[in-house]
Amino acid sequence: MTDRVLVFDTTLRDGEQSPGASMTISEKMMLAEQLERLRVDVIEAGFPISSEGDFESVRSIAEKIRTITIAGLARASKGDIDRCWEAVKAAAKPRIHVFIATSDIHLKYKLKKNRDEVLAEARQAVAYAKSLCPDVEFSAEDSTRSDLAYLARVVEAVIDAGANVVNIPDTVGYTFPTEYAERIQYLRSHVPNIGKAILSVHCHNDLGLAVANSLIAVQNGVRQVECTVNGIGERAGNASLEEIAMALRTRKDLFGIETGIKTEEIYPSSAMVTNLTGMIVQPNKAIVGRNAFAHEAGIHQDGVIKEKLTYEIMRPEDVGIKESKLVMGKHSGRHALRKKYEELGFNLSDAELEKAYILLKKVADKKKDVFDEDLIVTVRDALRIAPPVYKVKNIQSIAGNQVIATATILLEKEGTLLQDSATGDGPVDAVLKAVNRITGMEGKLIEYTVHSVTHGADAVGEVFMKVDFGKVSFIGRAASLDIVDASARAYVDAVNKMIPYQMALEVHNGKK
Ligand SMILES: [Zn+2]
Repeated sequence: MTDRVLVFDTTLRDGEQSPGASMTISEKMMLAEQLERLRVDVIEAGFPISSEGDFESVRSIAEKIRTITIAGLARASKGDIDRCWEAVKAAAKPRIHVFIATSDIHLKYKLKKNRDEVLAEARQAVAYAKSLCPDVEFSAEDSTRSDLAYLARVVEAVIDAGANVVNIPDTVGYTFPTEYAERIQYLRSHVPNIGKAILSVHCHNDLGLAVANSLIAVQNGVRQVECTVNGIGERAGNASLEEIAMALRTRKDLFGIETGIKTEEIYPSSAMVTNLTGMIVQPNKAIVGRNAFAHEAGIHQDGVIKEKLTYEIMRPEDVGIKESKLVMGKHSGRHALRKKYEELGFNLSDAELEKAYILLKKVADKKKDVFDEDLIVTVRDALRIAPPVYKVKNIQSIAGNQVIATATILLEKEGTLLQDSATGDGPVDAVLKAVNRITGMEGKLIEYTVHSVTHGADAVGEVFMKVDFGKVSFIGRAASLDIVDASARAYVDAVNKMIPYQMALEVHNGKK
C-alpha cells in the first residue's frame, strides 16, 4: 500500500478567521458537504467556545457529516474542552484539538507562565480530553520559535497523556524548509514515544513558504497536513490545500505519497469558498487561479496544441476545470467538433458539420481558442436566427434588515418595455428573480464576485458571474456605482448569451 498523508482542512476555522471571511451556519454546512465530496480526512469545523454561532455550526456539522473526522479547537482548559466535546460528540468520528503555546515569547507575554507550568497544563488537558474522546490532537502553538529541547519534552508528555496526533505548527509563518526539516528530524529522534502519534504540520504563509514548509515536513515523516482551500486564513493565510494535493500528485515520483483528495473536486471547492467568503483568488494563483491553465505566449500555445505535455504538467480536468474551449489545431478535427456539438444538444448532419467546421476554422485562425459561445454563434448564423436582446432601463430595489428585499426592473426588448418585481434573499437575489420573471430564464449563479475598479466610497464595482443554465453556462460582466445595478446588468448579459443558444436548439431540433 502506498504511504498516505492525511489532509486536515481548517477552512472553516482558521480560514474563517481571515478578515471579512465570516460565513453563516448554513454556508458553513454547505462548505462542509463540499469538503466531504473533496474527501479531506479531517474537517476542523470551528472553535466551539469562541461564540454561540461557532458552537452551533460545529455541532450541526458533526451531526450531518458522517464519513470523515470532525474536529473542534480548544485551549488547554477544562471549560474549552467540555464545550468542544459537547459540540463534536455527535460526530461519527469526533476529535478534540487542544492547543497551548510553547515558545518563550508566548509564555512570557501571553500566558505569563513558566515552561514547567505550561508542560503540566498541556499534559493535564490532553489527559482530560482523552477521557472524553478517543481521538485527541495536540498543537504546540508557535512551535517553530520554541526551544527545541523543551518542545521535545512537551511532545513526549502529551503523547504519554494520550494525544494520538501531535501538531508542530508554524503559527507565525517564520520557519524555512531546511530548518523545519531539522526540527522535525530532531523530534523524531529525541522523543522516545514519537512512534505512537501521527505528526502533523500547520503552516502560515507570511513569507510565502507555507506550502513549501508543509511539503518538506511530509518528506521528513509528517503524515498530516493542515491547510485551507484557496490558502485563506489569518494574515497572509494558511498552506493551500489544492497546491499541496496537486504537488504530491504531480510529483509522486519524488514523494511516493498519496492523499485521499478527489482532485476533480478542487475547482468546485475553490469556487465555493470564493463565493461564500468574497475573497477573490488572484488570477495567477497556482492550480485554481483563472490563468493557471491559460497559455498566452504564441510559442507555448503552439506547443500545447501539438502536445499538451510540452507545457502542461497537470491537466485542467484533473482539478475539475471543465474545458469549454475547443482547440481547432491540426489534431482536432470534425470528430471532436461533432462531439462538442452533441454535448450542446445539436445533432448536426454531415453537410451542417462541414459548414460549421469551415466557419470555425476561420474563427480559430483569429483567436486560437474556440469557446462554446463561438459554436453557438456559428449555428445561429447558419440557421439565420436573430435573437432579441434585453436592455436594462431602470432598477429599483429596497433592502434592509427590517424589510423583505424587493426589486423592480424595467427591461427593453425590441422596443417594448417590460416590467416586473420580485422578492428574494437580499436585493441581488430579488433583482435576478425579477429578470427571470420577465425573460422566462432560470439561471443558477455558480460564481459571483464583486471587486472595486476604483477607490473610495464612490468606487465603481465590477460584477463577474458565471450563470448555469443547465447544459451550458455563460459569463456575465458589468460595472456600476451600485452593486445591485451591476449584478442585474451582468445577469442580463449572461441571459442575452443564453437566448440565441436556446433559440438555435429549438429551431434545429424542431426541423429534424
Ligand atoms: Zn493557524
